[in-house]
Amino acid sequence: MTCDQLVCANCNGRVIDGRCPVCRANRARLQQEQHGPFATLNPTVLLVVLCAAVLALALLMMTR
Ligand SMILES: [Zn+2]
Repeated sequence: MTCDQLVCANCNGRVIDGRCPVCRANRARLQQEQHGPFATLNPTVLLVVLCAAVLALALLMMTR
């Protein structure tokens, strides 16, 4: 979902323009949500997932 098309109920302007405090609050919230999925993908989590994948592959090779 993009915030480009959202129209503010307070000032009837586009939320992305940030004409009033309501727009700016909504824009900040939307931008936070957009960063949400990437915030969980920090390098430590990626490293753990990678290690688990390698271990699983190694186990698969050994059991054959
Ligand atoms: Zn507004």
